[in-house]
Amino acid sequence: MQHTNLYIDGQWCEAATGERFDVLNPATEEVIASVASADIADADAALDAAQAAFGSWAAKKPRERSEILRKAWELMTARLDEFARLITLENGKARADAIGEATYAAEFFRWFAEEAVRADGLITHAPASGARIVVQHKPAGIAVLVTPWNYPAAMGTRKIAPALAAGCPVIIKPASETPLTMLALMPLLEEAGVPKGLVNVLPSRSSGKLVDHMLHDPRVRVVSFTGSTEVGRKLLHSAADQVLKPAMELGGNAPLIVFEDADIDKAVAGAMLAKMRNLGEACTAANRFYIHKDVLAPFTEKFTAAMAALKVGNGLEDGVDVGPLVNASTRDKVAALVEDAVAKGATIELGGMVPEGTGFFYPPTVLSNVPESADCVDEEIFGPVAALQSFTDQDDVIRRANATEYGLVAYVFSENMKRALQVCERLEYGMVGLNRGLVSDPAAPFGGVKQSGLGREGGHEGMLEFMETQYISAEW
Ligand code: NAD
Repeated sequence: MQHTNLYIDGQWCEAATGERFDVLNPATEEVIASVASADIADADAALDAAQAAFGSWAAKKPRERSEILRKAWELMTARLDEFARLITLENGKARADAIGEATYAAEFFRWFAEEAVRADGLITHAPASGARIVVQHKPAGIAVLVTPWNYPAAMGTRKIAPALAAGCPVIIKPASETPLTMLALMPLLEEAGVPKGLVNVLPSRSSGKLVDHMLHDPRVRVVSFTGSTEVGRKLLHSAADQVLKPAMELGGNAPLIVFEDADIDKAVAGAMLAKMRNLGEACTAANRFYIHKDVLAPFTEKFTAAMAALKVGNGLEDGVDVGPLVNASTRDKVAALVEDAVAKGATIELGGMVPEGTGFFYPPTVLSNVPESADCVDEEIFGPVAALQSFTDQDDVIRRANATEYGLVAYVFSENMKRALQVCERLEYGMVGLNRGLVSDPAAPFGGVKQSGLGREGGHEGMLEFMETQYISAEW
């Protein structure tokens, strides 16, 4: 499955500069591939190809686009194991997480195959003038897609599928840590019937220069980014020059609140999912745990036991639940956040030590009595560390949960539905998991408020990010 060159206009090609960069297996620290590194000339070739592909794809009947996307879902679903293996090799995550990701990634093709035929519009009477108001949605144009390393398949398909459904060509720049999965998807899209030039993949170790160049090309109309708030902000600045349509899926700092009336077993199961899916390397990962004082002891005991039962190791091995983090700097950041919390008074219930040996491993870790001053209360941990605090008052915990610049997802556990829904409505988050530790679903609008982003992916909304609204004022 392993392709290592650029994919432009349906062809595999070397970078014009001839430059390449290495991709590592985070479990063994071995180089697993040398990948072509795109630069300006390659971006220009991809832009030419995307522009040439645009007209005929946009003019296709929605049903034809839909059938190609549906075929992509079928083909990817038939090859989940191969995709999962590649995801584990370059990202490190355990097999179950990788299968979960590959399944989720494929589902975006099925969902947007169904949405492609539902681009609705409106015809109505203008209330005063007597004119007709005709509203329709049209493909916006070439979309530049930039994705992170934590979900090498799903963060790509979550953008590619709605863009193609909407009628737009794309150029995708995958993260330099994990470019192989996106490259491996291309033969499958060809087999599904995606015309050449419509999807182009440009891995690069010069991301800033490459993306900035594309965002200043007048043929580009959309920039869709998933990654850190810091880089998202930079791209918004670049996008402003040509007033591009931005979709930004940025960082999170998810609170997970367990009330005294929660079902504790359900809360522990939800907390495990919210924290440990993708070993905590997820924007949706629970970052701050607020546990009501009355249930703090049983929750901590059961949750710590569940964390202790996880097996750490090379994600390709049977029975492993937790693979390595993606690279040394991510692992070092997690370790530093734990050290900081402990220095400020937190107690280690489990884990908390970088293991000896090869691979960027960090053990499942539970910290209790984490003070508000700890850095991990404000910053995304992005690793397998749960930071527990307690609360007694509902208004106080809502205030603490909202006291962050982020607003991606929050989790609430309570069996009292009236209270739970009242709390959900007061949380300043784009998504809330209520008695559930997982919100991601291709059929739902995924996205954040505040500095967690702009726009939505998935659901009905996802396709609109790649469409412009046109209104015709008509008389007939
Ligand atoms: P990152 O922002 O460092 O990188 C994301 C992508 O941007 C990569 O492809 C990278 O090569 C590229 N990039 C880096 N600098 C760039 C620049 N100056 N110009 C253009 N492109 C540039 O993020 P990451 O470390 O890969 O991913 C982790 C972050 O992503 C976390 O903050 C996480 O919360 C966030 N994330 C958000 C979502 C979401 O849906 N909200 C999903 C997954 C990850």
